[in-house]
Amino acid sequence: MKKIALVTGGTRGIGSGITKALHSAGYSVAANYNSDSTTAAKFHEETGIPVFSWDVSDYEACERGVTQVCEQLGGTVDILVNNAGITRDSMLHKMDVSLWAKVINTNLNSVFNMSRVVIPAMREKKFGRIINMSSVNGVKGQAGQTNYSAAKSGIIGFTKALALESANKGITVNAIAPGYISTDMTDAIRDDIKAKIVETIPSGRFGRIEEIAHGVLFLADEKSSFVTGITLNINGGQYL
Ligand code: NDP
Repeated sequence: MKKIALVTGGTRGIGSGITKALHSAGYSVAANYNSDSTTAAKFHEETGIPVFSWDVSDYEACERGVTQVCEQLGGTVDILVNNAGITRDSMLHKMDVSLWAKVINTNLNSVFNMSRVVIPAMREKKFGRIINMSSVNGVKGQAGQTNYSAAKSGIIGFTKALALESANKGITVNAIAPGYISTDMTDAIRDDIKAKIVETIPSGRFGRIEEIAHGVLFLADEKSSFVTGITLNINGGQYL
């Protein structure tokens, strides 16, 4: 029977690349999204991959969403990719408390919510893969992103702790820390700032969505069973 993979924020950007790569590799895949139903419908039409809308920062919504996915795909979640994320940049002295809360809830509390919902079935099955999307800016910190850097750094701590709890249950828990990847999120960066960022990347370019998806395929693989608690940097050699 095909393993079931669920990707949050899986209908556009990095998530859509991950969803498509898992689908091509033979997994039964579901893609979650939040509110962009036009993009999600187009993605579904093009790929045939089922799409499900819920807000990953809402615990009860995650419970309902996972139940719906399991009913439709006919099993429990074997591979969870916690990919959904947002940025709301501001220097701390100007940061409204709502920007702090929104980024922590969407990027970090979501990882608790989704992992908490799927892990009992993984423990029972004695198999699971949880892959959490961190960021180079969680590893090194970034001015204007205290909220985002805190969330993405928190994900690394969560990943290590859950990896320790789960290692003897056949469940691996790993993080990926992408460098700058061309998506809607980074399209929002001003061109002159983008040029400055590229100067700091030894590979001399932004990364591609497929390069992150490739890392997910590696961590999701059954044969990667001895890899747990790591943060896989995929960043063109930036800030080593
Ligand atoms: P995009 O902005 O292109 O896509 C974000 C996705 O997350 C969308 O599908 C969006 O849904 C979904 N999402 C946002 N909020 C929620 C929510 N509350 N509930 C459910 N889904 C939600 O982002 P990227 O593809 O660029 O980034 C993907 C991940 O990779 C993020 O965690 C990001 O922080 C991380 N990352 C990205 C980097 C980059 O350079 N792009 C670098 C390092 C890390 P909808 O379509 O409905 O809006």
